[in-house]
Amino acid sequence: MIRDKIFQEKLESIVSDKVLFNEPMYRHTSIGVGGMADVLIFPGSIEELSQVTSYLRDCDVPFIPVGNCTNLIVRDGGYRGVLISLTVLTAIEFKPSALSVYAEAGVPFSEIVNLSIKESLTGMEFCAGIPGSVGGGVKMNAGAFGSELKDVIETVSLMNGKGDTKVAVKNALKFGYRNLDLPEGTVILGAKFLLTKGSGEKIRERVSEIISIRKKKHPLEYRSAGSIFKNPPDISAGKIIDDIGLKGKQIGGAKISEMHGNFILNSGKAKAKDIIDLIDITQKKVWEERGIHLETEVKIIGVD
Ligand SMILES: Cc1cc2nc3c(=O)[nH]c(=O)nc-3n(C[C@H](O)[C@H](O)[C@H](O)COP(=O)(O)OP(=O)(O)OC[C@H]3O[C@@H](n4cnc5c(N)ncnc54)[C@H](O)[C@@H]3O)c2cc1C
Repeated sequence: MIRDKIFQEKLESIVSDKVLFNEPMYRHTSIGVGGMADVLIFPGSIEELSQVTSYLRDCDVPFIPVGNCTNLIVRDGGYRGVLISLTVLTAIEFKPSALSVYAEAGVPFSEIVNLSIKESLTGMEFCAGIPGSVGGGVKMNAGAFGSELKDVIETVSLMNGKGDTKVAVKNALKFGYRNLDLPEGTVILGAKFLLTKGSGEKIRERVSEIISIRKKKHPLEYRSAGSIFKNPPDISAGKIIDDIGLKGKQIGGAKISEMHGNFILNSGKAKAKDIIDLIDITQKKVWEERGIHLETEVKIIGVD
């Protein structure tokens, strides 16, 4: 079906922005690995997104929504189906009377952090330096420095598997550690964040402090997907990996960072397999030596 000309032309007729066929995903993932997605599509509006998902469902073609691909590893054989990038949906609205910010799925966190500095709104400082978008961040319940997105979310706008949209209040949603549980096929359209009036100067200082801590602790000069594993209760995954002597371990072009044990780096020519093999080895050794199962935080999709 995906190779069918009529199918391809139909997708191009729906979407005003880009439709890329056989697109190598190493060009799009922050870690710089990944084979070809059959289709990578960029709907330019919610209406286009709705038409795309409804057409894909009619054709029985699988799809996955993606954002900035900063928490994503696509296997070397690529993805059989359609990756729907929400990165073109970038509307953002600040309501001063309610101290709320509504941001569409494609808005990068850096933009909300900058807005919160400008408008003296406190609450989003912890997002400074997280390279994701609102859609991916909400799905991951992204967090840092003791806070997570669920702390500042008021509502999340969703499109369900049938293409119906709704606004869900936070308490009706199942947020967990680095996860928002959503039914299969659900797309996050945007989220409303509720912030508090603060001092612009203090917010700016905290953001600078967070950025400089990140620069000291994280190997930001290399391509990565951030933390590979979730932290088990009461201990950091990075510390366990350090303690069992895996820092610096290398397979092909992938290496466990010497600076931070929970980062796997692409030294330039890594394959997804190199990274996934390092993940497997780490999980096996941590299980054998500590009896702890390290669960991946990064999402791995596609075929070998
Ligand atoms: C250097 C670096 C530092 C990082 N630091 C942190 C950190 O401090 N804290 C943290 O939590 N994370 C961190 N990350 C990981 C990552 O940036 C976050 O998880 C981010 O929120 C992911 O957003 P994204 O847009 O890149 O999502 P993607 O990687 O594109 O997608 C992530 C997941 O969300 C799903 N998804 C994406 N968009 C949608 C949507 N619209 N609807 C439904 N599902 C969707 C995808 O299918 C996938 O399962 C870091 C990553 C890097 C590279």
